Amino acid sequence: MTDTNTYKARLIEEKTKLESELAPIARPSSENQNEWEATESDTVQEADIHDQADHQDEYQENRAIVDVLNGRYQEVLSSLKQIEDGTYGACEVCGAEIEEERLDADPSAKTCRTHLGAGD
Ligand SMILES: [Zn+2]
Repeated sequence: MTDTNTYKARLIEEKTKLESELAPIARPSSENQNEWEATESDTVQEADIHDQADHQDEYQENRAIVDVLNGRYQEVLSSLKQIEDGTYGACEVCGAEIEEERLDADPSAKTCRTHLGAGD
């Protein structure tokens, strides 16, 4: 049985970090409070490398960033739910226990080494 306490702490830490990264450029979706959607805001302060980017480009860019962060956020949330359900640490392809080294590297890993990448 995988000891989930350490992983749970790391997942919660990552969730908090993702929320702080998402907050300035996204808001919780009105349909699902656990999903984030990019906000169309002109108050976002970006570095000046995008001087020529117009407002729409900036929004598109935010959406791309939010997509990535939100995808990661969903993985973290589902792992935390699995910990609550007692199903954490099982490969979603074959059901085998996920190697500890994999969980150490990424506590939200969903597959064993054999099925690495199969669930992505
Ligand atoms: Zn597997």
